[in-house]
Amino acid sequence: MEVKSICPYCGVGCGIIAKKSGDNWSIEGDKDHPSNYGRLCSKGASLAETINLEGRLLDPSIEGNSVAWPEAISTVATKFNQIIKEHGPESVAFYVSGQLLTEDYYVANKLMKGYIGTANIDTNSRLCMSSTVAGYKRAFGSDTVPCCYEDLERAKLIVLIGSNTAWCHPVLYQRIVQSKKDNPDLMVVVIDPRKTTTCNVADLFLPIKPGTDVMLFNGLLNFLHSHGETNTLFVDNYTEGLKLSLDQVAQSDLSLDKVAEYCGLAFEDVESFYRLFARTERVVSVFSQGVNQSTSGVDKVNSIINCHLITGRIGRPGMGPFSFTGQTNAMGGREVGGLSNALTAHLELDKPSDVDKVQRFWQSPVIADKAGLKAIDLFQAIYDKKVKAVWIMCTNPVVSFPDADFVKKALDKCDFVVVSDCMENTDTTEFANVLLPALPWAEKDGTTTSSERRISRQHAFLPAAGQAKADWWIISEVAKVMGFSQDFKYESQRDIFSEFAALSGFENQNSRDFDISRYTELSREQYDNLTPIQWPINEDNPQGKSRMFTDGKFFTASGKAQFIAVEPRLPQNSVSEEYPLILNTGRVRDQWHTMTRTGKSPRLAEHSPEPYAEIHPDDLKKFNLIDKSLVNVSSKWGEIIVRANKSDSQQRGSVFIPIHWNDQFAMKGRVGTLVNPVTDNISGQPEFKHTPVTVEKYEPVWHGFVLSRREIEFNNVSYWVKAHGASFSRYELAGEQLVADWTDWSRSYLCASEDDVNWVEYLDESAGHYRGVRLIENRLESCIFIGPTHDLPSRDWLASLFEKDELTDETRISMLRGKPSATQKDQGKVICACFGVRENTIVENIQSQNLNTAEEVGKCLKAGTNCGSCVPEIKTLLTKTIH
Ligand code: SF4
Repeated sequence: MEVKSICPYCGVGCGIIAKKSGDNWSIEGDKDHPSNYGRLCSKGASLAETINLEGRLLDPSIEGNSVAWPEAISTVATKFNQIIKEHGPESVAFYVSGQLLTEDYYVANKLMKGYIGTANIDTNSRLCMSSTVAGYKRAFGSDTVPCCYEDLERAKLIVLIGSNTAWCHPVLYQRIVQSKKDNPDLMVVVIDPRKTTTCNVADLFLPIKPGTDVMLFNGLLNFLHSHGETNTLFVDNYTEGLKLSLDQVAQSDLSLDKVAEYCGLAFEDVESFYRLFARTERVVSVFSQGVNQSTSGVDKVNSIINCHLITGRIGRPGMGPFSFTGQTNAMGGREVGGLSNALTAHLELDKPSDVDKVQRFWQSPVIADKAGLKAIDLFQAIYDKKVKAVWIMCTNPVVSFPDADFVKKALDKCDFVVVSDCMENTDTTEFANVLLPALPWAEKDGTTTSSERRISRQHAFLPAAGQAKADWWIISEVAKVMGFSQDFKYESQRDIFSEFAALSGFENQNSRDFDISRYTELSREQYDNLTPIQWPINEDNPQGKSRMFTDGKFFTASGKAQFIAVEPRLPQNSVSEEYPLILNTGRVRDQWHTMTRTGKSPRLAEHSPEPYAEIHPDDLKKFNLIDKSLVNVSSKWGEIIVRANKSDSQQRGSVFIPIHWNDQFAMKGRVGTLVNPVTDNISGQPEFKHTPVTVEKYEPVWHGFVLSRREIEFNNVSYWVKAHGASFSRYELAGEQLVADWTDWSRSYLCASEDDVNWVEYLDESAGHYRGVRLIENRLESCIFIGPTHDLPSRDWLASLFEKDELTDETRISMLRGKPSATQKDQGKVICACFGVRENTIVENIQSQNLNTAEEVGKCLKAGTNCGSCVPEIKTLLTKTIH
């Protein structure tokens, strides 16, 4: 059995094929899907490991007690109605997610804006790319992504700005790598404060000072104009505002040396970049969270767009300003108006004629006519008790928000919290009065839109587990009980999609970019067989459209694109004596968002099993830290404890910490608790890339780790982190209190009962070392290793022993010695997550097979031949081993 669907993680929107063999499902890339042509990254390739029922929310519950659906629905509807009646529609809110499918998103938005009558619905995409939405709207009059992925193959210059594409959009990174192989003239420039893995493809790397992008691109605009690169024909016919923008930028000293100094760059690098941009017609500027997540995010976006407008490099193959979106359906959310300042189908809340249009189309009793609360303000309003009921769908703000502990406080104070999710225990479900079981990816059916405006069908391939239901069904049932039964009578997701398609074409006549009206009358069969296609899909574009603005017509009042005069502004909060470092946050290669799903995959856990802080070697010295020791990182908003990783890819004075760890996987690893909640004043997007922090050595009196087939809850330690292995869980531990009796302590956690005698141990009290191993019929059940420092036996070697049915005497002895014997092998950590190839295997083969290139390693071991995310690490191993 084979089912085609879409990867649920990032905005690349890769097509997958789920294949069933016996009782098992495997996931392959779909060779026919134009986003990925069969490629998948490690996350997509590991999807089958995340579809089991472990941790699933299977029943509705009220205050922790399971109930049937009618009771849960009636409770939510009654309570919302009661609060609305007493306090007005502004007293309730939805906080939704780019993980919802378009049909779910549409219904949630319709209920809130058209029936409850407030725009208090915002989405976690606010945290991800709302600056791009605002920037596109200012320039084009619409939230339109002009480009398509094929442009990455047609370009002669790709500029990657604030985008670790290699880890965050790996399949697009692979397309760029392949494009560079096929076209050696293609140049790639990476602009980022961090020297990320993406720099492996760069011809030029600009390690920009955080927050100075506007100056760099204003300088470029000025350079292009003063070097005769203005495309006068395009500017005169299709744009407005160039003079104003040039006058504005001229207020700063934009000589190359001043720009270089301001941006912390070498003069030669700025000059090379400007000259390269000036002389290359086909330029794609890719930007992502490094641009968006900033207090000047919208201005950054417009400073980039300005450079494309002045050169007329938009609407033609191989060129344009191209935002890569974070979540799989962030774009779908933008289309349905999931943001609190948008309406639906790219109609606008601030245009009375648009508001009227939507109300007439829905025939709704009321309609929101002004913007609702943006995410950060929404949780502030919950805290202030202005919003008294919130329904959180498919997202985990207690982990993902800036000043994340404030979200806990706000939810604690909220009168009524509803959470619909597919997982039972997230950091957010803990606060729910009513918990509603939603369908997870493999059971869910509908559509998503990728970063290039491509709508794809997601097909369920597993039956709904327990009582879980589709989000659109849950929302519609609540709407019916709230009194809107006539307008939420959907029988399937197809009905919703058709209605949405009709609305997109309603009184449109090419006045709006988003138009999928050709799908208004789609039959069930046609909907099921929908093939990936880029909007608009209407009478003029029955087969969709790859590029927008091909005719130079934009969706502004004048029909012309707008230059936006933008001024460089440094981030609002800067370093101080108390907080002398700048925290930057982002993703790791193999995890997704708050780990509620990718955290289930042993394969994905291996690459980065512990939360960490990347710190420049000079800062490690300056702050008296040791590589791999624990470090306390604190800001004005909170503190966490993570592992220090020495890294010269980090600028001096800055720290990088990944976003993923939640309270289920780490005792104190939620980086959101540190992050500055200040936002861009246009988009409302928080500044995740710039929080002043300090670091301090964290010195527990003991360190340790446990590998155990059984899950364990450690409650008298000062630090714990959990990661799933193939048949065990791994716990990194540390404590501030000396343990009087390690035998008692260890057995209390690891042994099933007092009589559990399959316990062998070793204690060196004076050196502070303790090792214990629990066996059942010679099969390893669990082991514990304690010492005065983190320098403990190889976890990778011990993990490999869990694959054995029984341990030999030699192995048992070597375990108590804490190192493999001469005949045993430690294969080291996983480098290639797709094929499970480990570090020492690669090194051995480099030596024994005389391998000299990553391609040769790939041919020999397959490592790096799927998603390619590990190729840079393979190259590092080659360099280390050969030289
Ligand atoms: Fe999924 Fe990876 Fe493709 Fe993103 S790049 S959609 S995470 S397979």
